Amino acid sequence: MQVWTIVNQKGGVGKTTTVVSLAGLLVQRGQRVLMVDTDPHASLGYYLGLDPEEMPGSLFDLFYHHQNLTQDQIEAVIVPTNVAGLELLPAATALATLDRTLGNQAGMGLILKSILQRLSHRYDAVLIDCPPVLGVLMVNALAACEQIIVPVQTEFLALKGLDRMIQTLQRLGQGGRPVPPHIIVPTLFDRRTRASLLALSELVRTHPDHLWHSVIPVDTRFRDASLAHLPAPQYAGECRGVKAYNDLLDELLSRGGQDVTRRAASGH
Ligand code: ADP
Ligand code: MG
Repeated sequence: MQVWTIVNQKGGVGKTTTVVSLAGLLVQRGQRVLMVDTDPHASLGYYLGLDPEEMPGSLFDLFYHHQNLTQDQIEAVIVPTNVAGLELLPAATALATLDRTLGNQAGMGLILKSILQRLSHRYDAVLIDCPPVLGVLMVNALAACEQIIVPVQTEFLALKGLDRMIQTLQRLGQGGRPVPPHIIVPTLFDRRTRASLLALSELVRTHPDHLWHSVIPVDTRFRDASLAHLPAPQYAGECRGVKAYNDLLDELLSRGGQDVTRRAASGH
């Protein structure tokens, strides 16, 4: 099982869109996929047409009872989506209180990792969506994955947010525990605008080592897909934006070197 975390301390940069699009593509390649929503705003659930108020439970329950969780309790909060093979571990508004209640306790950063380890027989891939806030949830998401994906909007102000995110990763790395490798993915790229072109050349200049070699273009199909509560690959097939995510997926799988890589690459 491969675990990827999609993170940026800025909102509106394409995190949730990246989670759902990569998840949709992995399912099309025959993978069993779990999406984990760690954002108290539950945007991932809303995207998929799943109202957090109507869920049987949420990630909050698992954190709250983390000391003596049974396998049944964990599996009971996972819900299907309207795409076969794609499941969701939903968020809840109450997640926003975790920093206050659990934030300072030792070992708090590894709860999600241990929950996911107990689900490894059920999934080939797990994609974790993050809130744009550095806190106990983001720390858990970063500690639970093998690969960090940082979407960054190709716009000047967004680059400041990126610097903050990279500093966070460096700071966590200094804390003793190794931080997984990260890849920076330029999103919402519009080649007709000077803003996009300038931001991209700035990214190439400032982050040459971690920058993905391509971009995710602006594509209205992403918004249409979210209105239809479907991942873009399932909703729109092979549009420009989906093709770009497909290339990104190939890149991520080539970096993984795990079981899921071989199976997804061969389509089985
Ligand atoms: P985040 O999770 O970082 O807050 P979202 O994925 O929710 O960002 O994206 C913010 C908005 O931008 C959403 O309305 C989404 O549909 C739209 N969006 C994201 N990526 C693209 C894209 N490549 N092209 C066009 N619209 C996009
Ligand atoms: Mg989001």
